[in-house]
Amino acid sequence: MFDKQYFPTLSNNPEVAYFDSAATSQTHQYVLDAMHKYYISHRSSPARGEYPFAEQTDIASAQARYAVSQLINVEADQVVFTSGTTQGLNWIAEWHRNAPTVIITEAEHHANIVPWLQQGRTKQNGRLRVIPMDPYTGEVDLVEAEDIMAECEPRSLVSIIGTSNVTGIRQPWEQLAKMAHYHNHSVCVDFCQTVAHEQIDLSENQIEWAVFSAHKMYGPTGIGALYSAFDFTELKAMLYGGGAVEHVTFNDVAFMKGVHKHEPGTPNTAGIIGFGVAADLIQYEGYEKIKYQENSVCQQLYDSGILDLPLDWITPYREPAQHWNHVPAIYSFVPQQGHPSDVAALLAHTNTAVRTGKLCAHPYVDSLSNRGVVRISIAPYNTQEDCDTLVSDLSRVLSMLE
Ligand code: PLP
Repeated sequence: MFDKQYFPTLSNNPEVAYFDSAATSQTHQYVLDAMHKYYISHRSSPARGEYPFAEQTDIASAQARYAVSQLINVEADQVVFTSGTTQGLNWIAEWHRNAPTVIITEAEHHANIVPWLQQGRTKQNGRLRVIPMDPYTGEVDLVEAEDIMAECEPRSLVSIIGTSNVTGIRQPWEQLAKMAHYHNHSVCVDFCQTVAHEQIDLSENQIEWAVFSAHKMYGPTGIGALYSAFDFTELKAMLYGGGAVEHVTFNDVAFMKGVHKHEPGTPNTAGIIGFGVAADLIQYEGYEKIKYQENSVCQQLYDSGILDLPLDWITPYREPAQHWNHVPAIYSFVPQQGHPSDVAALLAHTNTAVRTGKLCAHPYVDSLSNRGVVRISIAPYNTQEDCDTLVSDLSRVLSMLE
């Protein structure tokens, strides 16, 4: 189900070895089919028309919300559609404007740093606390985490990354959540780099907030999910307009209840439907098989000789081996000779797609390398041929930089 033939961008560009799935994964044919079907056979505004194909749109949208909620094992009415993880984190930041302190990790993506800075929270003024990462394991330092959480006033927010987009290291968010709740803080986890690779089960209300994006899990761009353990009716709306209201006069407004309060305006209906299909596909394939396929691609990279290249790996123990806490989909390195951006620029002239720079995680990458990194990110659709192309192109590029 996740073979290359199901991903049109890849079959339409057979010469490209695509190793940038952590930036955005390719869209599955079935996702595209469902979105196309919406546009050609039942395009209509959801929850607004009585005619038959408008009902079809209502049903497809509701099914999508159900499929997305099932991915993290929560109820459909606990998931609001957003434009992606960035929007979700911005909303959560707004809802926590008055939280005494916000605690993040050193490995956050900018989407979980900048909204807090914009509120005037800084490490310097102590309204933003940063849990350091253990440089050896790539996990947060749990001892420091406990100290910081204990020092912060209750009802602070612990907002952390689930899987690092730099190292691919899975963070012990379950442990951190228990710690946070012990100190009466609430918890938000950014699962943007997790949902495509690992089963998340939030059925026990382990955390209060979660966010992720469809485009990192074979779905369309511009759509994502925000989970809350709280009743959405009680949360301040972040957008105002039509559709999300029960009644409006020139003097007052009555908002709709639950998730609908937060989804005014004509939604990204095709995106929502595609998101639902992507969630269904992952469930259908199963995380065990996905992990097996990702591990196989990783093994193929080893077989192609990637470990023989002069690269310094930014993974646990400085080796790209399969560690228990490493989601086998993200590997970053610094070339021993030359600059990472030269490597990426030269690779761009071949047919190998990778990512370079600071990966929207400037503070973390700066702590790991003073030159940025090159990131290889894999997906089940990568083939042995892709791996051979990557390793031979990389080898050629590195010898040019010697
Ligand atoms: N968080 C992490 C860990 C990410 O990797 C990304 C995207 O790369 C984001 C947040 C932002 O996601 P989006 O661009 O879909 O809003």
